[in-house]
Amino acid sequence: MGGAGERNQSMASRKTFLICFLLFSIAATAATRFVEQRGKVRAYALISRSRGIRLQLVAVQGRVKFSDSLHWLSERSQRKLRRKFPTRKITISYGSLNSRAKKILMNKAFPKDSFRRGVYRHKVVYRGAETFWRLGEWFTGNGANYRAIMKMNRIKSSTLKLGAWISIPKQLLLPAFLPQERPLSKPVLGKPKPEPLQPVSRTTANPVPVSKLGSKITELSPDAKRFHLKYGKDKEGAYAVYRLAKGEALYSSVVVRFTGRLDADAVHELVRIIVKRNKIPDVTDMKVGYPVKIPMEYLLPEFLPRTTKAFKEYQEELKETEKAAQETRIGTATHLNGVYLILDSGHGGRDTGAKYNGAWEDDYMYDIICRIKRIIEKETKGHVLPTTFDKSSRYTPIDKKNLHMDRDEYLRTTPMFPLNSKYVTSVGVHLRWYFANYQYERLKKTGVPGTNIVFISFHSDALYHKVTGTMVYIPSASRKLFRSHVMMKSGKYKPYLEYRSHPMYKFSRKKVQVAEGLSRKFARVLIAQLKAKGIPTHKEKAIRSYIFRSRRSRPFVPAVVRYSKMPLRCLIEVANLKNKGDAANVRDPKFREKYAHAFVQALIQFYGGS
Ligand SMILES: [Zn+2]
Repeated sequence: MGGAGERNQSMASRKTFLICFLLFSIAATAATRFVEQRGKVRAYALISRSRGIRLQLVAVQGRVKFSDSLHWLSERSQRKLRRKFPTRKITISYGSLNSRAKKILMNKAFPKDSFRRGVYRHKVVYRGAETFWRLGEWFTGNGANYRAIMKMNRIKSSTLKLGAWISIPKQLLLPAFLPQERPLSKPVLGKPKPEPLQPVSRTTANPVPVSKLGSKITELSPDAKRFHLKYGKDKEGAYAVYRLAKGEALYSSVVVRFTGRLDADAVHELVRIIVKRNKIPDVTDMKVGYPVKIPMEYLLPEFLPRTTKAFKEYQEELKETEKAAQETRIGTATHLNGVYLILDSGHGGRDTGAKYNGAWEDDYMYDIICRIKRIIEKETKGHVLPTTFDKSSRYTPIDKKNLHMDRDEYLRTTPMFPLNSKYVTSVGVHLRWYFANYQYERLKKTGVPGTNIVFISFHSDALYHKVTGTMVYIPSASRKLFRSHVMMKSGKYKPYLEYRSHPMYKFSRKKVQVAEGLSRKFARVLIAQLKAKGIPTHKEKAIRSYIFRSRRSRPFVPAVVRYSKMPLRCLIEVANLKNKGDAANVRDPKFREKYAHAFVQALIQFYGGS
């Protein structure tokens, strides 16, 4: 027995050895490059034959937290990878990174690369790890662009030679690899650009003669008229044309304004689409009056031709909600007498929310609601019911720029829900509207009119860095987004009275129309009040009933606004923390105090004046 057994075993182990050897050599890391250290987390670029280039985050001490990863991940992968944190070490595929992270990683992995003379020049450094397909993926976001790259470099063989210089066509480059966008208003000084080294079959801009487009005046909505849009159609489909004004650039003045996209990845993605559609050779060098074609499918409904179904639907739904709001009687409540404000500060506990430029949602938004609570209780006859409670600072506003990031915030459910829980971003979000709805039902039973009960959730955003100012999200009664009922099914909700007493809520479209209309009415008063106090508000569209994340994902309404019952309910994004000025405002206690006053003033005004 021994002999046969031994032979089998040794064959088996040889096989295992062979497999291990093969696996090892395939997966072997060709190189590791230190990228940077942020706090207690080190970032490395891993380059291997089998997986190309990846990012590795390693905790020097403790663990890599979800919040540490936000700097690197795209919005989409933030949602996908959330549950992998906290962890000691994590390796993230290139495709899951946001565009800024891609740029940082590539700069470290390929320090010789640069954009010069109108093309991106890449030097091949890692044997086996670099292929034409991968260069396509890394620099243009699409492996299939390898053909264009080979063609531009006049290379027939698909193997890349170590040390070779490869040019990546500018019109295919991911925007992150393009030279930084410069404002158009300032003339760029310096020597004229030399011609590219290699003969490049550059597609020159071939603007449409706009005069020939001749949109009928009847087609233009008031918003389209305001920006002098024209409509047209070519073999790639229908589009609107906008002529750039002085000082305008594609990012803010076309994509943010006309497509409603706000977060950096989505904005960059659409800029790429528009650059390609218009064959724009250089986004940094666009003349005033340049006619930019915007594909019709990305336009916000208010900019569509009036004759389209989508515009008619948009207009009809808007009218319905305004009518519904007008028909709803709101009693005058002098000094907010008899008004109940359910005040929600987003995030808390282990979830800091968006965190950029030294400010983060959790403690800073909590400070704003504490100020609102104090003002309403001292200076009006209104009542405040916060959804959150910080055990260490209680409800005392803190007059400091640097707030302490603690984790002892709770939801005021029965029993209290610790926001330091693992379920802070799931159960911890939905319990907020369960709590609010519970309070709403309770107050109504005591005779408080529903229209006197208000729900406001305070957040801050992480958007494209040039977007600034407050935005208000209101409920949407649009047919596409309407849901007739909601019920959370996990056992995690069972311990909470607010859930047990009413696990399912139903919605009628009529009531959501009233809510959209009333909330929009309040949002308008608030935005006007903020403007009057010199507080920044979003330039293009400060009031919205849905959020776009990426180009592909469908619009959605934040859960606390969608599932709560109060006829007046808003989510306020106080500022864009990715914008340095906005973040500095949020950090400033004087700003937070001013903001709180402006908010209370708006509420007083909404309920019929002082
Ligand atoms: Zn938030």
